[in-house]
This record gives sequence, C-alpha cells and structure tokens, in this order.
Amino acid sequence: MNVLIVTAHPDDMEILCAGTAIRYKLRGDSVTICHACTGSLGHMVIPPSELVPMRWEEAEKASKIAGLQHETLGVPDLQVAERDEVVCLLASLIRDVRPDVIITHDPNDYMPDHSDLAHLVLKSSFVATLPHHEHVNGECFPVVSPVFFMDTVMGVGFVPEEYVDITDVFDTKKAMLACHASQVDWLRDHDGIDVIENMRICAQYRGLQCGKKYAEAFRVNRTWPRVTTERLLP
Ligand SMILES: [Zn+2]
Repeated sequence: MNVLIVTAHPDDMEILCAGTAIRYKLRGDSVTICHACTGSLGHMVIPPSELVPMRWEEAEKASKIAGLQHETLGVPDLQVAERDEVVCLLASLIRDVRPDVIITHDPNDYMPDHSDLAHLVLKSSFVATLPHHEHVNGECFPVVSPVFFMDTVMGVGFVPEEYVDITDVFDTKKAMLACHASQVDWLRDHDGIDVIENMRICAQYRGLQCGKKYAEAFRVNRTWPRVTTERLLP
C-alpha cells in the first residue's frame, strides 16, 4: 500500500500516529510523511530563522530511527489556511504518492494549523483527481483517497472508531518523539506539559479502550466515494 501522512508540524506525527506509521513500514508498505509547516513559531526563545533548520533536523533524526522519509511544504506556522498554494502543493504531493490511504489531523483538533489542514487535505485529495485543474503538477490521480483523521492532541473531543495496536513499537515512537528536543521545551514552557509523558498516557488510555497496552486512535471520513469495505489501517 501507499500511505500518505500529512501533519501540520514536524512533531505531530510522532505524538499522534508514529506507532501506526512504524507498523505500516514494518509490514512493507510505502510511507510518505509530510509536515506542511516548518514549525517556525514553536519556541519561546529561538527565532524562526534558527528554529526552522533545527526542527528539520529533529524530524530527520526521528524519521531515521524508523527508516521513514519526511518532507515539508515549507509553509510558515499559522499560515496554512492563508496560503493559496497549499492546496496545489498537497494535490501535487498526492499525485506523486498516489496513496491508498491518507492520514491527517482531525477537523476538531486544538490548533488552527491542525484543523485547517484537515479541510485542505480533503480538498486537495479531490483536486488531485481533476485533470484540468491549473497549477497542480504530476499525472492526474483518479482516486478520491480514503482519509483517516488521527486522534486530537490529548484526545479531547475525539471519539475513536478504529484503533491500531502500537504496543510492540511504542518504545520506537517514544524515541522518535524525544528527538524533537525543541518541542519538549516549547510544550513545557508554552503549555505546561511533559509531551513525552502525555503522549504515553494518551496511548495507554487508547490502549485500555481496545484491550491493548498502547494504541493509537482514528476516525474515518465517511464521505462518498472515500468509503471502502477494506481495513486500511495496520
Ligand atoms: Zn502541531
């Protein structure tokens, strides 16, 4: 399978669906990870000019642990909805990856980049199928991709529909998240949380719901023609 994971910021994948990404990878699927934003505003002290390359390196280090590849659309934080080019960039990426499934944020997640991106992914996955749409690169992809929404940050307002058992890969997910050292600082200083321990608690809570030690939770976008009878999560 071709799997496309689109998140807002460089650490979101590790927090919300890295266990699932690792499991896809381990079973031989092709996994493409794209964080739309550069993570430019995610620090109390370090300015964007220094933070952007730092966060790229953190994501690079994390991805290497699981043998994953990541890329970015290069959009500054909090501009995902304001930039007209985002839909075309995402549609071009979809044409390139030709995904059997796309995973992205839930439309009700806590931060504008997250919720905006959920809508933009739905739009761009439709745009990718339009042969005469201007400014979209690549060969037209005729499939309106199935889309899964990953858990919200801290699981607030999210009622899971499907779970992925990440017990066996939890330590790898945790090591990947720890690579985002700037975000351990940022989330402590800006939000007063220990992001690694919070991620563990959320994974344990989702695990309790489905009879596993650790799990990640998802909802499926039930709109035609994205619905399928196949299990698309690992
Ligand atoms: Zn984020």
